[in-house]
Order: sequence, then structure tokens, then C-alpha cells
Amino acid sequence: MRDVDEQIAAWGGESTVEREEMKAGNPFWKRIFWCLDECSRFSERATRGSEQRPLRIVLIDDERFNARATVCSTNEGAHFVDIVAINTGMIYTMLDVFSRLLGHPDVLITVPGSQDEVADRVAVEKLYAAPFSNGTPILPLSSQRLSVAVSLVTIGLDFIVHHELIHLVNGHIDFRRVNSGMPAIDESKQLTAANVDVTTYTLEFDADSCAVGVSLQRGISIVKKLSTAASDNQIFKDTGVMTIYASVDAYVYHFAFVIYVFFKLFYQGPENIFSSRTHPAPQVRLWWVLCTIASIQVKKNIALGEKAHESATHGALEAERAIASVTGRTPDYEMIRNGMDQGSPDTELLRGIRAEWQRLRPLLDPFSRGGKLAPAIPD
Ligand SMILES: [Zn+2]
Repeated sequence: MRDVDEQIAAWGGESTVEREEMKAGNPFWKRIFWCLDECSRFSERATRGSEQRPLRIVLIDDERFNARATVCSTNEGAHFVDIVAINTGMIYTMLDVFSRLLGHPDVLITVPGSQDEVADRVAVEKLYAAPFSNGTPILPLSSQRLSVAVSLVTIGLDFIVHHELIHLVNGHIDFRRVNSGMPAIDESKQLTAANVDVTTYTLEFDADSCAVGVSLQRGISIVKKLSTAASDNQIFKDTGVMTIYASVDAYVYHFAFVIYVFFKLFYQGPENIFSSRTHPAPQVRLWWVLCTIASIQVKKNIALGEKAHESATHGALEAERAIASVTGRTPDYEMIRNGMDQGSPDTELLRGIRAEWQRLRPLLDPFSRGGKLAPAIPD
């Protein structure tokens, strides 16, 4: 295994100097690095009482993947460093996606200024057809809507980074390192039908489900912080952030909106059906993520408001309605209702994943470093 810094440099990774320059030069990057710093606290908390490892969350410029969780050894395997690498291009793509959506008059109309927006259907469709293409940026005219777009990016990034951290603290990477000598999980950009690896599908299930729980809790703690203290945090002082964290319900609504857009639109373009070798189709992932949001509410593991389940449903419905509207198709609400009611589509794939998770879960458990593995997949 390579040395940590050498490995990060090989992926086109940032240096500490660059990070400070990016933060100093641009409020957007300041928000992004704030988000990454906050995420790293989860790892510290989760692994307390278990094996502690240094953690590096880095931005890299490697087009092969959107994100990667891995470990690097520093001396002959005796000492490991956890690494989460995020492709910078993915952050730009999220900014592009949410800016275009908020620049459209028919998306998130509850955020003031929508009636003045002028992005048209073609502008958003271009994104839909080629989510990773570089085009002219389309920004919302309203500064509040632009600020909301940036906040939605941080919600999406928070989910992605926690997903990678779960791969590490729930022992997925160590399990693979010991059993197959492959100490990494890539979130690949390519979604092409190929030989299915059901074992990694279940690791993705665990990472998605747990990340949703952690991300929700984190956002809710921000809402509470903001409501109790007169926030002196400069990062929260703009109106867009306050729109999203105004209440638990507002946060859950926007969270569900982001997650829905992430899987339905941003992640895979118009072909919402293909699985890859390592990842099930986004619509399958979306289903279990919605199920998890619903089950968290049912179990009241976290102090969600009375209306949180309803708010999450409305956030996802708004995302589906908006995407359908800007792409000129009929909205399809069935999957959202299914997920939020925790009804399972009875497919061969899901039956296979469910059985594999039952088999794998006890094998994975000894590798977990403080992470709590997801429960069985709902029937
Ligand atoms: Zn993953």
C-alpha cells in the first residue's frame, strides 16, 4: 500500500495550502469545507471506544469515481488511516443541478422569488440528458434562491460523505480488505448493466440507510442550535440557510427533496433503471432510503417533529412534481407513497438483496468499529 499523501496526490488531491486558499477566496468553498469538518466529527463519535484511526476527508480530481472510501497503511499494515475522497467535479455538478432547478419558476415554489425566475425547460432538460456535462452555469436570479441552492448542495454532500464514513466505521472496508484484499469502495459514475455483485449491493444498502439516519440527526441538531442560540456562526447568517433550517419540518422537507433529486435526476440521468456491478439501480436505493426515513419516524429514534413524516413525503413529492414539470412528463408518485408506507416492491432483486443482507450482517459485525449496522431490509 502506498503512503497516504502519495496516494492522495496520485488522485489529484488538494494540499492543505490549497484548502486554505479556497476557503479564503470563496464563501461557497468555505461552506463546503465547513460541511466536511462537521462530517468528520461523526467518525470520531462513532468509533469512540473502538479502534481509533486518523481520518482524512479530501477533495480529489479523479474522474473514475464520484467518491471513494478506503484505508491506507502507513507502516506495513500495522497502522491504518481512513480516507474519504470526494471528486471535486461532483460538487460542481451538484451546484449546477440545484442552481438550474432553483432557477426554474416551477421548482420549490415555497422559496421566495420563484415567480421571477426565467430558466426554461430546455436549460433543465440539458442537465437531465447529460448530468455531468459542462455547460454555461444557470444561476437563480434571486439571491435567496441561489443561497438555498448552495444549502441543498451541502445537504447532498453531507449525505454522500456520511455514506462513505459508514463504509469505514461499519467495517465494510476492513471486511473487504481481509476477505478479498480490496480495501476500497468506489462510487462509480458508470451505471451499466453488468454482472451483479449482490454482496456489494447490500453494503450500499447499509451505507445508504445509516447515512440517511446520521444526516437527518445532524441537520436536526443544527435546527436546534439555531433556534436556541442567537447564532454567531457567520455561515448561518444568510437567508438561504435559515430557510432550510428554520424548523425540523423545513429541514426534513428539503432533505427529502435533495435525496430524491440525487437519486432520480442527478445520479443517473434519464435511464432510471440500470444497476451496475456494485450498485443497484438508483430507484431501488431511493426506495430503501425513503423506507429508512419513514422507519426513523416510526421508531422515534430521533426527536423528529410530529409532522416530520408528512414533511419528508411532501419534500419527495415536490421533487417528483418539479422534475416532471421541468421535463414535460407526468409525475409518478407511486414509489414515494410505497417507500414512505414501507411497502416493498416484490422483485427478485430485492428478495436477493434481503437474503444476502441476512447472511452478511453477522459476518460484517465483528469488523464494525462502533458503527451500527442497518437492520434487516423491510419485507
Ligand atoms: Zn457506497
